Formats: sequence, C-alpha cells, structure tokens
Amino acid sequence: MEQLITIKTYTYPHEVYVERGKLESEGIETFLKDETTVQVYNFYSNAVGGIKLQVFSEDVNRALAILDSVKETVPKLVVFSKKEIENTSVCPFCGSDNIGKKKNANWLTLIPYLLVGFILPVYGKSYLCFDCDKRWRIKLF
Ligand SMILES: [Zn+2]
Repeated sequence: MEQLITIKTYTYPHEVYVERGKLESEGIETFLKDETTVQVYNFYSNAVGGIKLQVFSEDVNRALAILDSVKETVPKLVVFSKKEIENTSVCPFCGSDNIGKKKNANWLTLIPYLLVGFILPVYGKSYLCFDCDKRWRIKLF
C-alpha cells in the first residue's frame, strides 16, 4: 500500500507552488496538506506547521533529488550599489523598461518579490524584469 510522505514544509503558499510544479512536470504526483488553512490564515502558517508537500513513499528519493536541482535554478537576486545603476527605470541586464518595482505593488505583482523580499530588509526597492525575468536590488548605501 502506498503511503504519503511529507518531504518538505513551507511557510508561504508561493514557495510550494514553484517546487510542486517542478515535481509534477517530472511526473511525480504531489499532495498538499494544510494548504487552504495557510492561504486563508497566512498568519497562522507557523501554527499549523506550514504547508506540507507530500509524495508517495516510492517517489521520495526522486522528489528530493529534483528539489535539490530546483534550488540551483532559482534565479538569484543580484544586488547593485547605487553607483552601478544610473537609470533605475530600465533593466540593467537587457535594457528593457518593462520592469516592476516592489514599491506600489499590488498583491499579484508582489508574489515574485515574496521569494526574496523579507530576506534583506536593509536594501532598498527590489526590481523584477518582465522580459528577462531577472531580479535585482539596489543598495541604499
Ligand atoms: Zn531584463
């Protein structure tokens, strides 16, 4: 009989979607536990132990290996100093002006930033380029 095993827990829903999508695309069936609770009561995420990502016991080893490889492909947040960026309204990587800033973001555009937004509060606004999908921040000093 197949058994569901929790391979990872997540505090925020957006974190699980990225990695779950990767597992599903590799043909691994996944299940989420406590997802609704966390979505509705985000604040209580820690109380319920976060969202649990589960797979069948026979898929555990493969799933963990895939999650390891996902980690390496998540785009890194590049940090620039103010000196390095003269024009903050274009992407420093591809020059596109189709970029988003964390400031004034609504809930939906905020989601990409949640991945990195709480980690380095000493830095200023964070940016996202919608054309090349790079993310960056500019140091305040
Ligand atoms: Zn770009």
